[in-house]
Amino acid sequence: MTKAFLIDVEKCVGCYDCQIGCKDEHCGNTWLPYAESQPEIGQFWCKVNQTERGAKPHVMVSYVPFIGGQDTAIRDFAPEVCMEREDGLVVIDPAKAKGRKDIAEKFEGVYWNEELQIPQACTGCAHLLDDPDSPIRTPRCVDNCHVDAILFGEEDELDLEGAEKLSETSLVWYKNLPKKFIAGTVFTPADDEVVIGAKVTATGEGGTYETTTDDWGDFWLRGLADGAYKVTIAHDGKELALDVDVTDKDAGLGDIAFE
Ligand code: SF4
Ligand code: SF4
Repeated sequence: MTKAFLIDVEKCVGCYDCQIGCKDEHCGNTWLPYAESQPEIGQFWCKVNQTERGAKPHVMVSYVPFIGGQDTAIRDFAPEVCMEREDGLVVIDPAKAKGRKDIAEKFEGVYWNEELQIPQACTGCAHLLDDPDSPIRTPRCVDNCHVDAILFGEEDELDLEGAEKLSETSLVWYKNLPKKFIAGTVFTPADDEVVIGAKVTATGEGGTYETTTDDWGDFWLRGLADGAYKVTIAHDGKELALDVDVTDKDAGLGDIAFE
């Protein structure tokens, strides 16, 4: 029996309510024996990572909530400071972890509390799960998400089809993690008009992707695998070829002269 989180990035609207809920639950509240109070600043046991992608005017923003503390690698690294739990959640015991700055230094999502001299991270809100009288019997970040972008439950009861993890040992699954895009606006310099209905094809190591330019001459090739692509723009018997690499980042190509 192992608990897990499932985050659907496509459903996430970037409201930060999960991050705020975690703060509200743990800042100024001591939930011993599970957790000392989370400091007001500097720690984000649930952290919504916001990324601006592409280049003006072809820009997208992605929101990916991250719960780094729920990783069994932490327990494997320091079993003597982690609680033994039937549900498999990773809970660093504050009473046993004094002085273990090495844990905070090694794992993203584990923070060092200088004042208390302890590493701190997501507890899975075990204080709520274990309390039969709690009005909320689920993690606070999950309860706070009004669009069900974060789910929590038995791992084998979650719909994990197509889901992936950021690390093999994490208890957090993701669906619809952001994939790369190539976007641009096609225009003819001779008359300074946008080209409508041009066929745009990207072919590369990640496969072949196709679209057409819209009424504003814009095209968006979305959901691309990382890698290098040959992008061809074809219209009215003419063709333009471009080399575009989205291995590391998305490509907002701006205005593309088509002659
Ligand atoms: S509460 Fe839900 S929708 Fe809002 S940022 Fe968190 S996961 Fe996304
Ligand atoms: S499960 Fe609880 S401690 Fe963990 S990130 Fe969510 S709100 Fe914070």
